[in-house]
Amino acid sequence: MPSAENRQIRLAARPVGDVGPECWEHASVPAEAPGEGRFAGRTRFISLDPAMRGWLDDRPSYLPPVGLGEVMRAGSVVEVTESNHPGFQVGDLVVGTFGVQEHVVSDGRGALKIDGTAAAPSVYLGALGMPGMTAYFGLLEVGALKEGETVVVSGAAGAVGTMVGQIAKAKGCRVIGIAGGAEKCALLTGELGFDAAIDYRAEDVRKALRVHAPTGIDVYFDNVGGEILDAALACLAMHARVVICGAISQYNATSGVQGPSNYLSLLVRRARMEGFVVFDYVSHYAGAAREIAGWIASGQVRVLEHVVSGTVDDFPQTLQMLFRGENTGKLVLELS
Ligand code: NDP
Repeated sequence: MPSAENRQIRLAARPVGDVGPECWEHASVPAEAPGEGRFAGRTRFISLDPAMRGWLDDRPSYLPPVGLGEVMRAGSVVEVTESNHPGFQVGDLVVGTFGVQEHVVSDGRGALKIDGTAAAPSVYLGALGMPGMTAYFGLLEVGALKEGETVVVSGAAGAVGTMVGQIAKAKGCRVIGIAGGAEKCALLTGELGFDAAIDYRAEDVRKALRVHAPTGIDVYFDNVGGEILDAALACLAMHARVVICGAISQYNATSGVQGPSNYLSLLVRRARMEGFVVFDYVSHYAGAAREIAGWIASGQVRVLEHVVSGTVDDFPQTLQMLFRGENTGKLVLELS
């Protein structure tokens, strides 16, 4: 019997600025059979993450760059179809970094079995996965959040941002979200219960922060960098914490990253600014996931997903959505 075809998306060329179609090779190879101690699986959901942009550049980072000709790195949920591994049975749903391809073979390292009945499988790529962990540890550990504080989050309608705001509300804080467009802002203050939202495309962010956070920002959770980071720095409360999670406004920059000119506010306000990488907290993920699952069950946290249905060939255009602000909540590609 001929083996199934495995469609893959590989890195063909390193991008300069935006990630265009020329960066990708759409390849087909025969699907591998699992050897001893391995399982084979069919990909169900692929995670789209802004960090992917950084993995395409040939420079040192917290992970090595994706090599030219390699299958694009991505987190995904796969369903086990054949197993010679004692820990994984046919039908199990597994989350791991399996790449942008239809079929995977794994020895189980870094693969985590998930309970598809407790939450939809895609949620393990979002609220109960890496973005949820990022929000949780960035806010509570790096941001050292305290009840009653004023929290501002940028990229507020995205995967991480929606979780940051809702966790801060669950912890009894006042929350202001910054996002692009009236619709996203209405969602933040409506369904998600934020206290205020600022549309950075239509408003002067610095002026709006002064209105919504008149006593200053205690925790600023930055997902976007650039001018919005600068505006937030100008509005800090005493002993504020600025959490550098990401800087999506800068990821496609071709002329260097724009640094904050208002950084002396850290001195005046006796504040600190600290970056982090969520993978450093991996040994604590299980406890965080339990707490987030509790908030979801009690209705304090709503899961927001943006699911695109398609094939692995839709990966390149779907990735672009993140940089155009076309997603609301966690962006995933569901393979049909
Ligand atoms: P999102 O779901 O938030 O999607 C990206 C969003 O960024 C878009 O929807 C868009 O929303 C916004 N955006 C795009 N371009 C710009 C721009 N030029 N200026 C302002 N906003 C822009 O992605 P994630 O939640 O997955 O990631 C959020 C951030 O967290 C990223 O910077 C990512 O790299 C970082 N991250 C960091 C981790 C860590 O360990 N430090 C781990 C995981 C994520 P809008 O319509 O509002 O513009």
